[in-house]
Amino acid sequence: MSWETVIGLEVHCQLGTRTKLFCGCPTGSFGQPANRFICPVCTGQPGVLPVLNRAAVELAFQAAMALECRLAERSVFARKNYFYPDLPKGYQVSQYELPFSRDGKLAIADKTVRIHRIHMEEDAGKLLHAIGSEELPYSLVDFNRAGVPLIEIVSEADMRTAEEAFDYLTNLKAVLQFGGISHCDMEKGELRCDANVSIRRPDAAFGTRVEIKNLNSFRAVRDAIVHEAARQAGVLEGGGTVVQETRLWDVAANRTEPMRSKEEAHDYRYFPEPDLVPLVAEEAWVARLRAGLPELPAARKARFMAEFGLSDYDSGVMTAERPLADYFERVVSVAGRPAAKAAANWVQSDFMARVKAEKADLAAVPVTPEMLAEVVTMVVSGKISGKAGKEVFARAWETGKKPAELVAELGLTQVSDEGELRAWVDAALDGNPKAAADVRAGKEAAIGSLVGAVMKLSRGKANPALVNRLIKEKLAS
Ligand code: ADP
Ligand code: MG
Ligand code: ZN
Repeated sequence: MSWETVIGLEVHCQLGTRTKLFCGCPTGSFGQPANRFICPVCTGQPGVLPVLNRAAVELAFQAAMALECRLAERSVFARKNYFYPDLPKGYQVSQYELPFSRDGKLAIADKTVRIHRIHMEEDAGKLLHAIGSEELPYSLVDFNRAGVPLIEIVSEADMRTAEEAFDYLTNLKAVLQFGGISHCDMEKGELRCDANVSIRRPDAAFGTRVEIKNLNSFRAVRDAIVHEAARQAGVLEGGGTVVQETRLWDVAANRTEPMRSKEEAHDYRYFPEPDLVPLVAEEAWVARLRAGLPELPAARKARFMAEFGLSDYDSGVMTAERPLADYFERVVSVAGRPAAKAAANWVQSDFMARVKAEKADLAAVPVTPEMLAEVVTMVVSGKISGKAGKEVFARAWETGKKPAELVAELGLTQVSDEGELRAWVDAALDGNPKAAADVRAGKEAAIGSLVGAVMKLSRGKANPALVNRLIKEKLAS
């Protein structure tokens, strides 16, 4: 009999605010020198008081709306007490018994995963280990992240395969990005995931779960779940029992390792945060936030299909990421709706290939949406050939020059003048009597080599559709 894997995910997402949850320190400290973005509040100095960041609360509520959660009219911040050197106050301000939202859902490929709850909390600092010499190693702490606003999104244990967990994370990230909640850049720690994994015989009660931490990518989540489920199966089949514990994913070794239990024995002694009043969500305020929630990925995909006539597949690709959807939509708004399908093709082929190859940031690519729209327009209207369009695109990417300028500079304007084309056609027919005879004899396929000959004579500038027609006319007469 086979085992079934049961998975529940806990996702931490950094809210995209400028400043921290309880003070005015900036949040954008990734890659910056340590301890430059701190103040007495976020380093927990005696006598300070927190002031709740309205923008963070608004984004948190909009996240909950995007995930179809029930919103609490009244929620309460709580202190989660534990000692760790990256936690200056000795407690983390979080929410416990009364989180601001519960009971949401997120659709994945062929099921809906229920969301148990979402609560707000502040981030901790970061320990920098293995500093100093080998004889005298020591650790330092960077508090830049301390107090950065987060939401924790806790799913129900509704997923049954590593693939479903991967899909859930992919869709969750898309909803959070499109909703304007977070950039969700995992490399910057803006999205983090812990996976709870157990196995059971189908239809049996849930087994004992293991929580896996240290998952740095969606792929790591998927791999860790597969390996952890196999490990648990080995334990149970060997007559053992699975111990409820926290394990760390070791990417290099491809296995989970138990975490030192010392770090695990938590008794958080939660109690309500006395320095913050309960959070009351007024109806009018909630309605305003709901009205201001940006278009979510599913709606945007449907709109691209309806408004631009894109296929299901193309629309899915164009809405895979918010920055890409924004880029594409801007191209269409400049090139015009009739060019939308061509624009989608350009974005998927030359554009994405270049972005991937250079790991370019979509917000700062050298070919702006306006420039790509110019290339698309010139190709669609027949001013330049598709091949020339590719060249112009590549040059525009490398030089930042305007496509129209490049077309002039490189002499790529397509020739559609019939008089000029006829001269090339005549020369091509004279030079290829065999192919000409084949076409006359009804071998349609032979026309390709004649068109090719014209393209060569014109150094790629002849309009191939026109050339094709002119050759046919000529040979039929
Ligand atoms: P805790 O309060 O200790 O964090 P929760 O009950 O809140 O525990 O569960 C945390 C996560 O673990 C949730 O995502 C939940 O769906 C998941 N989970 C709970 N039980 C199991 C189980 N038996 N197998 C897999 N995941 C589980
Ligand atoms: Mg938990
Ligand atoms: Zn601060």
